[in-house]
Amino acid sequence: MKRLKLKQKLTKQEREAVVDNAVKILGNNGLVIYPTETCYGIAADATSQEAIDKLLKYKSRREGKPLSIAVTDEKMAQKYAVINEVAHSIYENYLPGPITVVSKSKKTLAKGVSSEFNTVGIRVPDYELILEIIKKLGKPITATSANISYNPRPYNIDKYLKETPRKHMKLIDLIIDAGELQPNDPSTVVDTTLNNLNIMRQGRITLKKQTSQKDPVLQARTNSPQETVDFGGLNMLKFIDVPLEKPLVFLLSGELGAGKTQFSKGVARQLGIDRIVKSPTYNIMSEYDYDQGHRQGKLIHVDFWKLDTYEILRLGEVMTVGNVIIIEWADKFLDQMLEDFDNSNSKVIHVVYKSVARDKRSIKSYEMNDLSNSHVFSEK
Ligand code: ADP
Ligand code: MG
Repeated sequence: MKRLKLKQKLTKQEREAVVDNAVKILGNNGLVIYPTETCYGIAADATSQEAIDKLLKYKSRREGKPLSIAVTDEKMAQKYAVINEVAHSIYENYLPGPITVVSKSKKTLAKGVSSEFNTVGIRVPDYELILEIIKKLGKPITATSANISYNPRPYNIDKYLKETPRKHMKLIDLIIDAGELQPNDPSTVVDTTLNNLNIMRQGRITLKKQTSQKDPVLQARTNSPQETVDFGGLNMLKFIDVPLEKPLVFLLSGELGAGKTQFSKGVARQLGIDRIVKSPTYNIMSEYDYDQGHRQGKLIHVDFWKLDTYEILRLGEVMTVGNVIIIEWADKFLDQMLEDFDNSNSKVIHVVYKSVARDKRSIKSYEMNDLSNSHVFSEK
């Protein structure tokens, strides 16, 4: 592993030497740690399977979470992803800058870069040296933070070296050390694949203001069953680390055929459950195990449609850390459930089908922060 300490001002030759060095290593499937306007990132050639496998080995245990990539501009992004109108306006108005735009990927990236749902997060870093490296390499690099999974984001190389086990460190070929970086927030991650803005992680830049707790945290107008599955996946991805601390509950409210089970399929798929989640209408409750490295537990899929008494299910007993619970026809026993939510300290997301017409569904997800005040229900 080589560590290149950057001086405040580099001469043209010195700069070129750094770029050449990094490009050579990346071209040979190596890993390079580099500074950005957020934190230190880690680069691998995003089109090389060998490089990506090495990166995933370095990061370890991040199953289910897609990587993001960095490109020089929108034109380069278009080679690897479908940039729709919504995404285009972000490229035009905000990039380069600390925003990761999620789009549908084309099949040109290595396996492990795109998500299970075939989407990819793309950044254009506001850091000239890195743009030069990408340009010279002629391929996108990964833009994930340089820490191994579940370690803090690195802003200082000495500190990073102390925190990172040797076994992982051995996989790094080059560190471009620009000293202590500004402790900026990470990039704002916005998903545009459903033709609107869904904020997956709020970072330094606010693209969309949530003016009241009554505003949905995610929403979509889906035009096909598949898009509703995708929206379910999006919901699960947004809250993917919640079950590490508390049970995660999705309450689904919508008429028969609204697409509640389609949504559930997306949640299951994001958890890596490949068995098909069917409507549990006739057996009321189904259980599936999931196991994604650090994240393990059960997906409990419940349908209240045919249920007469809430207590008989003893739902409170499965509201435990690790578990994700989806409830179709949630309105039916809401009052009884509130106590179980409170006792289990569950995080509750209420998914409401606002309008349903032929193949179109308008779906909004609300965070229920204050359970005793379930304004979301009265709002409908
Ligand atoms: P629920 O569980 O709410 O009763 P399902 O998910 O079982 O509903 O069924 C929804 C039905 O509607 C399926 O047959 C699906 O093919 C159809 N459908 C058509 N358009 C959509 C859409 N945009 N989203 C979800 N389902 C859709
Ligand atoms: Mg159903």
